[in-house]
Amino acid sequence: MAFVQSLKCRECHKTYPIEALHVCEFCFGPLEVAYDYEGIAASISREKIASGPPTIWRYADLLPVDGTDYVSLGAGFTPLVKARSLGEELGLPNLWLKNDTVNPTGSFKDRVVSVALSKARELGLKVAACASTGNLANSVAAHAAWAGMESYVFIPANLEKAKIITTSIFGGNLIAIEGNYDDVNRLCAELASEEPTWAFVNVNVRAYYSEGSKTLAFEVAEQLGWKAPDHVIVPVGSGSQLTKIHKGFHELYEVGLLDEEPNVRISGAQAAGCSPVATAFAAGYDYVRPVKPNTIAKSLAIGNPADGFYALDVVRKSGGSFGSVTDEEIIEGMGLLARTEGIFAETAGGVTIATLAKLAKEGIVRPDETVVAYITGNGLKTVEALEDSQGPTYVIKPTLEAFTEVYQSKRSNQ
Ligand SMILES: *Cc1c(COP(=O)(O)O)cnc(C)c1O
Ligand SMILES: [Zn+2]
Repeated sequence: MAFVQSLKCRECHKTYPIEALHVCEFCFGPLEVAYDYEGIAASISREKIASGPPTIWRYADLLPVDGTDYVSLGAGFTPLVKARSLGEELGLPNLWLKNDTVNPTGSFKDRVVSVALSKARELGLKVAACASTGNLANSVAAHAAWAGMESYVFIPANLEKAKIITTSIFGGNLIAIEGNYDDVNRLCAELASEEPTWAFVNVNVRAYYSEGSKTLAFEVAEQLGWKAPDHVIVPVGSGSQLTKIHKGFHELYEVGLLDEEPNVRISGAQAAGCSPVATAFAAGYDYVRPVKPNTIAKSLAIGNPADGFYALDVVRKSGGSFGSVTDEEIIEGMGLLARTEGIFAETAGGVTIATLAKLAKEGIVRPDETVVAYITGNGLKTVEALEDSQGPTYVIKPTLEAFTEVYQSKRSNQ
């Protein structure tokens, strides 16, 4: 049994039934899932979670789905790895990486999609749809294929080739829009009101979808031995993931899974070519001014972020910060992570690592803190970003002589 009470407006707190609704009809505030935390506290335990599946569904009591008939490719429970070499390089002895590159379709989006489509099916919605910056497209198409649902996935036409191919292979309808993500999102908002039996995972079922990101906090706390970290670094597109990681740590305390009230500093990472939230933070504004994205970090290229205002608020209240990094720094960040830890992350991972390096240098992320950086997507999907900077060390003829020559020149240069 799920412990969901209602949907609740984040602004005016008016409650709504559990349906495919996402905005308050009185104040246009976003709707969020409200739970019976006392009921959850009585049901949940560390032992019960430990005996659950190695997926996000081990935390089912804290997710908004009834029953156990999940739409799941096995997302979640990804490794939390101690980053010794990278930590040494950045002067952070207690640095950990949450490696979400190993999810079924290679990004954290599998968490949110698994929750959204499970709920969509429960609500009787027939078609899976989304407005995507790329990874969501992959994930919706894959989960819909698994569940036997029809899918309509909308993307900006200029996405990375790999993200287009790894979406269309699943056989749904892939609609490329001549415009940027914000144009795609606007179209999907219109379509969502035209097509009431469609589940636009990040539009009309967004309240359920976004809950999936809480598992990024749940897993980290469990993997640290039921402790919250001191500081987390989160890449920001719409800002949903960041706000839900914050909610996740607090829920664990609320239901008795953490002994101490968590006091996690939350810092956000953006690409300089699309940094509306980081810019608002730096300027001291409490609103986010939309921008036109221009960055290689396409998965974060949202110029008018739906949860930007809330992400800003969470970061400020938690005592965290924001950083933004150039395309060059993103590529350096991807390389640094790969060279030191053997993890190949996509451009968003480069944003996270480069921002972490910057915040560590500025003394904002501190050596005495237990730090977790969220690595949210796989590098195989954004190889274009590295075409000019990566390639063979040597190209030689297939002879012993040719190899000996380069090998000796390399040795003598060392
Ligand atoms: C979508 C995405 C993000 C941003 O998540 P939001 O909830 O939109 O802020 C970060 N990293 C990757 C790899 C993504 O695909
Ligand atoms: Zn309201």
